[in-house]
Amino acid sequence: MTDGPRKMKRHSPPRLRVKDSVIRGTRQDRGYDQHWERVQKVKKKANPLCEQCLEAGKLVQTQMVHHLIPTDIRPDLILEWANLQSLCWSCHAAINHDELRKDYREGRLKLISNTAENGHETLYN
Ligand SMILES: [Zn+2]
Repeated sequence: MTDGPRKMKRHSPPRLRVKDSVIRGTRQDRGYDQHWERVQKVKKKANPLCEQCLEAGKLVQTQMVHHLIPTDIRPDLILEWANLQSLCWSCHAAINHDELRKDYREGRLKLISNTAENGHETLYN
């Protein structure tokens, strides 16, 4: 009896099923409350087209509102207008959030706002 090619069974590592909300907190815990719902609605109305696609000359409907400075490192900027960007899903999926955090920590990512008089913190380039 000869050994034919052995069939290897691929075992994927056991996956720990932990709810996202257990690790990161619920959306409410992270500041996504009724104020956020309101602000993102206003932002989508103000910028109904994906801002990144628009820069590339494409007209794509806004599908979500993105935070330029991630809210896990600056939760106080969750409602800050200058920190918001209207995006489509595909542009948002292309964003590397770890890179954004790194850029922010190293001072390469700053907000530019023309609403300095509104009392919110405003960072200038
Ligand atoms: Zn887009």
